[in-house]
Amino acid sequence: MTNQTNSVFSQLNDNALVHHSSYIAGQFQSGRNGHFAVHNPADGSLLALVAEAGATEAEQAVTAATAAFPGWSGLTAAERSAKLMRWSQLMLEHQHDLARILTLEQGKPLDEAAGEISYGASFVSWFAEEAKRMNGDIIPAPKANQQILVLKQAIGVVAAITPWNFPNAMILRKAAAALAAGCTFVVKPAELTPLSALALAELATRAGIPAGVFNVVTGTDAKAIGQVLTKDSRVAKFSFTGSTPVGKTLLAQCASTVKKVSMELGGNAPFIVFDDADLAAAVQGLLAAKFRNAGQTCVCVNRVFVQRPVYDAFLAQLIKATAPLKLAPGLEAGCQIGPLINQAAVDKITRLLDQALDQGAELLLGGAIDADLGPLFFQPTIVTDVTADMQISQTEIFGPVLCISVFDTEQEAIALSNNTPTGLASYFYSRDIGRIFRVAKALDYGMIGINEGLISNAAAPFGGVKESGLGREGSSYGLDDFTELKYLCLGGLG
Ligand code: NAP
Repeated sequence: MTNQTNSVFSQLNDNALVHHSSYIAGQFQSGRNGHFAVHNPADGSLLALVAEAGATEAEQAVTAATAAFPGWSGLTAAERSAKLMRWSQLMLEHQHDLARILTLEQGKPLDEAAGEISYGASFVSWFAEEAKRMNGDIIPAPKANQQILVLKQAIGVVAAITPWNFPNAMILRKAAAALAAGCTFVVKPAELTPLSALALAELATRAGIPAGVFNVVTGTDAKAIGQVLTKDSRVAKFSFTGSTPVGKTLLAQCASTVKKVSMELGGNAPFIVFDDADLAAAVQGLLAAKFRNAGQTCVCVNRVFVQRPVYDAFLAQLIKATAPLKLAPGLEAGCQIGPLINQAAVDKITRLLDQALDQGAELLLGGAIDADLGPLFFQPTIVTDVTADMQISQTEIFGPVLCISVFDTEQEAIALSNNTPTGLASYFYSRDIGRIFRVAKALDYGMIGINEGLISNAAAPFGGVKESGLGREGSSYGLDDFTELKYLCLGGLG
């Protein structure tokens, strides 16, 4: 390894996308506190040593974002929009390199990584357009000599903490809306995947986004950095994507300064196949909704409920379609499922699966590591006879394991689906228009895929109910989360 970088990065077209330290006030900082290692989950190799940053650097980033706020929020919407559009274009121009960096540090198949880059960039271009439509309102006043005006203004400095499963898009879903509204931004990416975040910082500089508007703090002391980002009174808004337990802690921390908060937390998605469904379409939808990112997405299907009359036929088609899925390193041609992120993920899935099998579930496919590929390659797995009392039904699996149960009535499927404290994504397949509206209204979820397994895009409001979080990302609603309403009462007009 030379210059703190593995030689795998020499295959990039643009090596300057790889950075090793926090990006604060428009500068990549020199490390003073040592380094932490970033590994490739496919083979365990060391990819890079990244400079440690902690509470001090987080405070510096908040200071930089605070200083940059008047200038950035003072630009016209069209000026901010042009810079965001340039940023988005640069991401697409460097899509191949960004995807490669992402696969190397996160593990997902290269095609999926390229898809994540265009998905992330689509939020930037979407919100570049929305910046120009941050309209206020004029309301009829109760008195004849008054006028009520409502302005939408940028909320101020936004701080964010993001997970490793979408190292590019989870940052951009927040940053795009925040910057479009006129906010400045500080993000702490996951320690397992800092390189994708730092590559975005490099492109922000090239896009002409001014120093201090977009800052990245990389470090392993998440608690210390999180304390600053949730408690510093200069931060007006805190936005988190990650697990529900960590989200609850950070929400409590934000109470000390009464920050506005968005929380994109975990889920436990049901997938219902009714007896009137197009079974072939349901199988394809389920594969897309389950095995993307090796099952490591917040909207991944966790529990599959199949109506009794079509149970055997559906299962036969599902096994046939799942068995040939190619498990391989993400950079290998044809890879459909990559490695899990780390050993802790493998241990968790193995434990959940073992418990379910002990309690009577039946293993139909997979169920183990493919040792020839390496310790993190978990086979696509199907288990049946899964019941609601099993841990595997109550826990976000975050791996390529499909848990199947049978049901008889529509009411039973709805009750089983809603039997969880979370409510992020859910899916069902039916061709009965009456049933479609009945079930969609009855499911306690923020998002519902109906005859569709892939539901995320920049035009739609992404987010959950119950313990899956607060707020929405994407769509015109997503901009509102980064604005304050200001009411002006204009008197003396008579
Ligand atoms: P996680 O353990 O909650 O970590 C997420 C982020 O929080 C990481 O940057 C982590 O830093 C940081 N963190 C952990 N403990 C912290 C603390 N005490 N104070 C401050 N920061 C802290 O979640 P994950 O395992 O990375 O991600 C998977 C979870 O994210 C799943 O539950 C998934 O459903 C959820 N998710 C939700 C959405 C959504 O839109 N709703 C999207 C994607 C993922 P380190 O990396 O340094 O530990």
